[in-house]
Amino acid sequence: MLEKVVSSFDVDHRTLSEGLYLRSTYTINEQIKVLSWDLRFCAPMARKPLSAGTVHTIEHLMAYYLRLDPVIGSAIVSFCPMGCQTGFYLSTTNNVTREDIAAALIRTFEKVFPIHTTEDIVGLNEIQCGNPYLYAIEETNQAMESYIKILKEQL
Ligand SMILES: [Zn+2]
Repeated sequence: MLEKVVSSFDVDHRTLSEGLYLRSTYTINEQIKVLSWDLRFCAPMARKPLSAGTVHTIEHLMAYYLRLDPVIGSAIVSFCPMGCQTGFYLSTTNNVTREDIAAALIRTFEKVFPIHTTEDIVGLNEIQCGNPYLYAIEETNQAMESYIKILKEQL
């Protein structure tokens, strides 16, 4: 049984700005508590959303490298792009805090970025990905750099 506490559609998106937010909590089978975090890269309606190639590149890199993080890696349930291309959803178990996640994002950024070639994008090949021709290197570096800057300002 999935108990929904707050739905994305209950939030007035005009009030959101860039950053890292706890969006909702779920309890699965009345036992496992899952936290759903918004990694909001673009304030809705304020500026142009991420390109599809940028979203895809960040998804590949962060879904992989965040799971290797020594603090939050084993708490990660999923890392998924928002269909509106303004950010990502990170789902975790409930033993991590916002500060843990922000620190892990900063650590991962410092370890992985900037990327230079498609060789730097883990899993971007015909065997592991449905569309390995969709990527963006420079835009991804810029999007990650500005998101991490915002995270650091909010710490
Ligand atoms: Zn892919």
